[in-house]
Amino acid sequence: MADNNTQYYCPRCKKRARFEQTVGDRKYSMEALRMSYFLCGECRLIFMSKRLTKSEIKEWWERNKLEKTAPLNYFYSEALAYLYGPVLSLYKKTGYKRMRFEKRETD
Ligand SMILES: [Zn+2]
Repeated sequence: MADNNTQYYCPRCKKRARFEQTVGDRKYSMEALRMSYFLCGECRLIFMSKRLTKSEIKEWWERNKLEKTAPLNYFYSEALAYLYGPVLSLYKKTGYKRMRFEKRETD
């Protein structure tokens, strides 16, 4: 899960980004793997962070005790390939550009 106290803002219009999640396409556990990313629909910008994705994968892997299924690196490579491959390509096809969004902590 993305940290609830962390918000991302569009670097162009400065509005708060829309939070989205994609679900991993394979079932290894009862709980689906959810990977977060952020969008600004008006500016057609998308923000994906490999660091954030990796921390989500790691938490899911630990929570579901998947160490007996496969090592963490296996899930990293498969899930990152999915998110940064077909998921990102679909956005790029509809005119989105990948960009770093501004991160702000709230309390
Ligand atoms: Zn924007």
